[in-house]
Amino acid sequence: MELKGKIALITGGARGIGKAIAIRLAKKGADLVVADISYESAAETAKEIGAQEGVRTLALKLDVSQADEVTKAFEDIIREFGRVDILINNAGITRDGLLLRMKAEDWDAVMNINLKGTFLCSKEAVKVMVKQKSGRIINIASVVAFMGNPGQANYSASKAGIVGLTKTIAREYASRGITVNAVAPGFIATAMTDALAENVRQEMLKSIPVGKFGSVEDVANAVAFFASSESAYVTGQVIHVNGGMYM
Ligand code: NAP
Repeated sequence: MELKGKIALITGGARGIGKAIAIRLAKKGADLVVADISYESAAETAKEIGAQEGVRTLALKLDVSQADEVTKAFEDIIREFGRVDILINNAGITRDGLLLRMKAEDWDAVMNINLKGTFLCSKEAVKVMVKQKSGRIINIASVVAFMGNPGQANYSASKAGIVGLTKTIAREYASRGITVNAVAPGFIATAMTDALAENVRQEMLKSIPVGKFGSVEDVANAVAFFASSESAYVTGQVIHVNGGMYM
């Protein structure tokens, strides 16, 4: 229970990778703030994990791309818990399309949620963490930040931006006891990959040396390392969780 007494905020925490991270951190004893664009989904997940793991939870409606909502969310968290120890910038979307067909609004939507959302939440978290003289920020990037991916100009640019943002905030606040790192998942088995046609799945698998998709728990394990005291001397780094598809 090494995270007992710590408060962890997970954006987009209601489902998928975010929910797996929330469960993993709760198993280590952390109290949780599950924030999601849908309050109902956040509340359901927070209730479920709170009951299973016996930790305190707070559910928040939060669209990470909206500065006023981010500010209010941090006010609510401070009122409830008095601190924020761990921020997981997980909320992310895709709006895929080849460059020549990509609409500017699809570019903006992905940038605003994935990259600007990470900036806004990190800024509010750092304000609190500087006062605490400690904190962990863990950003969810993607293998496509490093490899590119046809049809994902907006998404891969947003995730590459997250890597640059991670390293810069890490440098700015290392001396204040705050570490900032990123996890870059490859293909992770989710509802999205389950829905793919078998031939598409087989084609994707050929690009993964270990020969299988990753699990949400694989991603959560890497996040748990960055959240733990074992990574105290690690900042500005990226852990690749991709079965070897990018080395
Ligand atoms: P997911 O299943 O779609 O979950 C994302 C969660 O974020 C959903 O609950 C979603 O709510 C919420 N969300 C969407 N827009 C939001 C906003 N503006 N503010 C707050 N929450 C918002 O996605 P996932 O597969 O778990 O992915 C989680 C993260 O991992 C993302 O950053 C993604 O880019 C990254 N990633 C995923 C994979 C993969 O293979 N799955 C690979 C590499 C990286 P709604 O469902 O209500 O929209």
